[in-house]
Amino acid sequence: EESCKIVVVGSGSVGKSCLTLRYLQSKFVEDYDPTIEESYRKMVIIDQEPTLLEVLDTAGQDEYRSIRDKYFQTGEGFIIVYSVTSDPSFVEAKNFHQTLQRIKEYCYTPVITVGNKADLENERRITYQQGQELSSSFKSKFMETSAKTGMNVPQCFEELVREIRKW
Ligand code: GDP
Ligand code: MG
Repeated sequence: EESCKIVVVGSGSVGKSCLTLRYLQSKFVEDYDPTIEESYRKMVIIDQEPTLLEVLDTAGQDEYRSIRDKYFQTGEGFIIVYSVTSDPSFVEAKNFHQTLQRIKEYCYTPVITVGNKADLENERRITYQQGQELSSSFKSKFMETSAKTGMNVPQCFEELVREIRKW
């Protein structure tokens, strides 16, 4: 039986937990404990094919480099999340990608780049085009999402599963 190990990475408070819980539990949790790192398993059917998804929702400022390296090693696909309302989180997305490249020894690894909080149009700092450019520098697909409204949330997980299956 097929399974997929997905790791959700990005700066603190970009919405990693909200995206994960929106997708796996169809809810928006306003105040999820930012220190909780949790992995979830769920059977999903994508393109008529059942898959056991394992999603690791990472947390923390990676003081524990060896732990981070370990989940980067075991992950088969990565969602690199920034918030469209945060410049530092956009810069950090590059750092996450670089770390990933190093740990995967520069081999191809399926990645989806996600600009979350797209519902906060008034607070936007990063344009759609900037996101697209960053994502194409990673050779990854790109989506803007909102864990709050649900926009593009299933799509980003499903696209990543398709990339993992191809690879
Ligand atoms: P994490 O640290 O990356 O796991 O971030 P969380 O998922 O805990 O979210 C951090 C904060 O941003 C919380 O207050 C959420 O309610 C809020 N948040 C997360 N996603 C969205 C979104 O798409 N839109 C809006 N408006 N708020 C969001
Ligand atoms: Mg979290």
